[in-house]
Amino acid sequence: MSCIFCKILSGEAPATIIYRDEQVSAFRDFHPIARTHILIIPNHHIDSVNELEPGDELLVGHMVLVAKELAKQEGVAEHGYRLMINTGVHGGQTVPHLHVHLIAGKLARFLVG
Ligand code: AMP
Ligand code: ZN
Repeated sequence: MSCIFCKILSGEAPATIIYRDEQVSAFRDFHPIARTHILIIPNHHIDSVNELEPGDELLVGHMVLVAKELAKQEGVAEHGYRLMINTGVHGGQTVPHLHVHLIAGKLARFLVG
């Protein structure tokens, strides 16, 4: 298993994990592009949005709700934040394990990816 995010989930690779439940985990991006930059990922491997299937609605919805809670926890909910899911090479996806970026800070609105 060579997926870096799966290795983070299993504890084989280091990360600052800030949230975990039965379905998803969240940790800080190691190359933050804004003051708050968190990745929310499913606890089982899914390559990308392209591999989502009927039945994954609850998981995807849960990822967004966890992002919302973490935004509140980070103190960025009021000023706002960006949620981003890059998909495939042309979508800028570099790690093929589904993830939602939670990006916030004064400059977040100027970022395009
Ligand atoms: P994407 O380009 O949408 O696939 O985003 C992948 C993100 O994962 C990038 O923002 C990377 O900085 C981040 N990343 C890659 N490896 C790690 C890691 N080991 N720990 C934390 N963040 C990572
Ligand atoms: Zn994985």
